Amino acid sequence: MSLMSKEARMKKLGEEVSKCQLCGLCEGRQNPVLGEGSLDATVIFIGEAPGRKEDEMGRPFVGSAGLVLDRLLDHIGLGREHVYIDNVVKCRPPNNRRPRSKEVEACSLHLERQLEIIEPGIVAPMGNSAIRHLMKRFGLVPSPIGKIHGKLCGVEAPWGRVVLFPMYHPAAAIYRRRLERVLEEDFASLKRIID
Ligand code: URA
Repeated sequence: MSLMSKEARMKKLGEEVSKCQLCGLCEGRQNPVLGEGSLDATVIFIGEAPGRKEDEMGRPFVGSAGLVLDRLLDHIGLGREHVYIDNVVKCRPPNNRRPRSKEVEACSLHLERQLEIIEPGIVAPMGNSAIRHLMKRFGLVPSPIGKIHGKLCGVEAPWGRVVLFPMYHPAAAIYRRRLERVLEEDFASLKRIID
């Protein structure tokens, strides 16, 4: 248990992330995107990486995928202020390519510290990159998203029991309309777990 407040610890981490050079993604960034929301959140949503708008603004999910995420949260009566929204990597990959495993590995140091500060009861990785990383992180064998989405897995974390709840990435609903319904159903299940 740290003697520093959660806010002070996250602020310090933010300062470190702004100077981070642990992988090559730092070279192309305008702003690192630490994540935002309640530090006492029960749920942390973890996406892949900042896109163009996120890189410009230094905030997670503020582009078109963010609009979908906001709609899904609204659908279950939650606002951004009730949850924490994060990414597996904090800097935008060139041309929005998928982050490489070395980049995810390097950035996992920051994500780990965020998890230790927030101590969420529910971790919701969204999309393949986040699902793969978080399943491995909790000692599970990664499964394809089509099989694992919407299924809860109970895992142990240093701060206690955690529910891992994999989901499709909100951006998937933009290109495949059918997935919007799937995401809505998974968010409704998530709400039942929270309650
Ligand atoms: N996609 C992500 O995975 N994260 C963001 O912050 C924005 C789009």
